[in-house]
Amino acid sequence: MQDSVSIPKIVIVGGGAGGLELATTLGHKLGKNHQAQITLIDPNRVHLWKPLLHEVVAGSLDTGMEALSYRAHSSENHYYFRLGAMDGLDKTHKQISLAPLFDHHGKQILKPRKIDYDILVIALGAKCNDFGIEGVHENCFKLDNKEEAEDFHLSFLNRFLQFSETAHDGENVSIAIVGAGATGVELSAELYNAVDRLEQFGVDKIHHQSLQVTLIEAAPRILPALDEGIATKAGKTLTDLGVNICVNRNVKGVSSYTLHTSESDIHADLLVWAAGIKAPAFLSELQLITNRIHQIEVEETLHAIGEDAIYAIGDCAFLKPDHAERPVPPTAQAAHQMAAFCAKNIIRQLKKQPPKKFRYCDHGALVSLGRFQTFGSLLDQLFHKHWLIEGGLAHWAYASLYRQHQLALHGYWKTFWIIVSSLIEKRIKPKLKLY
Ligand SMILES: Cc1cc2nc3c(=O)[nH]c(=O)nc-3n(C[C@H](O)[C@H](O)[C@H](O)COP(=O)(O)OP(=O)(O)OC[C@H]3O[C@@H](n4cnc5c(N)ncnc54)[C@H](O)[C@@H]3O)c2cc1C
Repeated sequence: MQDSVSIPKIVIVGGGAGGLELATTLGHKLGKNHQAQITLIDPNRVHLWKPLLHEVVAGSLDTGMEALSYRAHSSENHYYFRLGAMDGLDKTHKQISLAPLFDHHGKQILKPRKIDYDILVIALGAKCNDFGIEGVHENCFKLDNKEEAEDFHLSFLNRFLQFSETAHDGENVSIAIVGAGATGVELSAELYNAVDRLEQFGVDKIHHQSLQVTLIEAAPRILPALDEGIATKAGKTLTDLGVNICVNRNVKGVSSYTLHTSESDIHADLLVWAAGIKAPAFLSELQLITNRIHQIEVEETLHAIGEDAIYAIGDCAFLKPDHAERPVPPTAQAAHQMAAFCAKNIIRQLKKQPPKKFRYCDHGALVSLGRFQTFGSLLDQLFHKHWLIEGGLAHWAYASLYRQHQLALHGYWKTFWIIVSSLIEKRIKPKLKLY
């Protein structure tokens, strides 16, 4: 791949579910033939698909196996990778700025930088939303990235180590999770899975009842964004596992080991915040139109409103098409579709063709309770009907979401070999990561 000043510069900020797929597609369609220079920017050296994070927490997934190195991937897929975090935008000079980069000792490695673009795609995702509630940041674990998930995993293991050495009869390890959306629900089940594995490994005093998960939700039911049938079934499976579900509970504040809710205080050894989403706050300072959770409002072409050189996709974009009842949801499914569509519109823009309008295609929703059960609804596009599914079929549909992401990044052959090698690794490695 050669650098050139005469070809258009396409800069994609954020190498997540949407941005990385987009960089890969454009790398092959434009970068390979030097029709454009594609640059992907991310503050991390490796990519891990976010829906896998609750498995990282529980130790059922080894990040070393699943994480993808941006640098290696970019060299094979005809785009450039630059390590850094966007912190500003100069629309007049078509430049973005990157914050200085520090190493893990706090030593500055790179000074602030400016990157030129002809077309900019903002795909820097979202994080969980603490709604300004005091104490969340200081006292709760979050699951916004690999590091946070690994941090919680270690704390989880350490707490059980302590428990196995010092516990008395009838005691347990308590974990309170705020937010009973897909993340909170899936995490609850994965934690019980992890404890069952610890029991199988023969760790002293540990058995299924050693864990007490409490799941707290402000809405009247768990999985408020999903079909009620799925929520009922998932709720029953969780209750059977031992999860204590508290709905209609607003958390007002958090202090050490305690959630202060509208009704009472909930004490737990580990607190997890998995509620809501919000995009990075600096997006609201970029002279782009944003909503109250800092998402960039986009037109149906995925251009930021009023901008012809700036697109936004994925969780950091807000799109409510005229014909639709609801905005496009912040999911991996939507980010995947937006990435594929955005690539097409960028190619049209370079050919000076008019942009097309994005149509979100809802294929349904799935929630996986690990080895215990998977539930979901598939949307029949022909009859506009939801089919509730569970068991093997639902599990297969759930797994295929990640396969789609892998296919977009690696193509058929490499994905095939990745699946084979991960099946082999799963056979020969312990079923729980203990470090
Ligand atoms: C625990 C968990 C479970 C989930 N489960 C599911 C599920 O089962 N199904 C589903 O459909 N969705 C699920 N989601 C949601 C899904 O992961 C997101 O909707 C999806 O990842 C959004 O893709 P994205 O590309 O917009 O953002 P992300 O995938 O979040 O990627 C954003 C990227 O931007 C980078 N970035 C951030 N700030 C900057 C900056 N300033 N400069 C440069 N780069 C930056 C980040 O490092 C990251 O790589 C889950 C989310 C979580 C957290």
